[in-house]
Amino acid sequence: MKAIRVSAYGGPEVLKLEEIPAPKPDAGQVLVRNHAVGVNPVDTYLRSNTDNRGPKLPYTPGSDTAGVVEAVGNGVTSVKPGDRVYVGGTASGAYAELSLCGEAQVHPLPARVSYAQGAAMNVPYATAYHALFQRGHGDAGETVLVHGASGGVGIGAVQLARARGMTVFGTAGTAEGRRLVLEQGAHHALDHTAPDYLDELLRLTGGKGVNVVLEMLANVNLAKDLDIVALHGRIVVIGNRGTIAINPRGAMNKNAAIIGVALFHASPAQLAGIHAALVEGLGNGTLRPVIAQEIPLAQAPRAHEAVMAAGHRGKIVLVP
Ligand code: NAP
Repeated sequence: MKAIRVSAYGGPEVLKLEEIPAPKPDAGQVLVRNHAVGVNPVDTYLRSNTDNRGPKLPYTPGSDTAGVVEAVGNGVTSVKPGDRVYVGGTASGAYAELSLCGEAQVHPLPARVSYAQGAAMNVPYATAYHALFQRGHGDAGETVLVHGASGGVGIGAVQLARARGMTVFGTAGTAEGRRLVLEQGAHHALDHTAPDYLDELLRLTGGKGVNVVLEMLANVNLAKDLDIVALHGRIVVIGNRGTIAINPRGAMNKNAAIIGVALFHASPAQLAGIHAALVEGLGNGTLRPVIAQEIPLAQAPRAHEAVMAAGHRGKIVLVP
């Protein structure tokens, strides 16, 4: 089968299309023929070995795919060959024609949802759900700022928060991004490149600020988040690309919490709950991943450049 392989850490150019043996499912495993593969920022951090977190070389990148079950190992009962599925994590990598997965990593893909949309589910939507509900305890009637709402996680968070009955504020750096954020359910869209956008947020909340902040770029925004979080609010750090100085008194004065999130640390029980909710949301149309670009698998380097560029309009997927 064709797969993207990384044999040395580095820039996007280390992503090479190669022919490698197709994997076979052992007991409890599922082999999926991928029709679309999700590209996430974390794939670029692992490729360049940021913070020494790179996988053992050589490896096939990626964790998110959608496609059709090709074969199942002994003991697998929840899916059968021919089923449409989306995948959250694999044993063999996602940037490939086929992926080997554990049974618990494979979830039904409702007929109304495209494979590209299925490939947008795992890291983006599972993280949005984990951050908003399981870590941030966002609830109906509360306000939430999705600080970076135009990308994969942000759009998922906007749709989830709106469906729960929260008042949703979302930011984007371009007019097109803000239009998309409104279309996807935000009550208000703000421009995170404008000097006064958080004054506008305070005005819109009657000076109270928001109950929950979902933060996609904490190294830029965490100090500002302390100014606009409400009394007893929760700032949930999802994305961060550097360091920042904050005054902790900002948290004390409001009994506010700063909460870190890594989907990686969600428990098996939490993941089962997350995906049960996501499958239901896909089936009833509440969750509608937005695809910005579909790029051929061989052009994975271009996809890695695109996912780190500004001006997001949803999700980037690879097509094997
Ligand atoms: P993405 O699709 O690349 O989107 C990036 C988002 O960040 C866009 O909405 C972008 O808006 C926004 N952004 C850019 N500058 C910003 C600023 N100054 N303030 C606020 N937002 C800004 O990425 P993603 O998949 O949504 O992931 C978002 C972040 O979360 C990434 O850093 C990713 O690594 C991280 N993440 C963490 C976890 C976890 O488990 N903790 C899981 C998934 C993702 P514009 O392009 O419109 O400017």
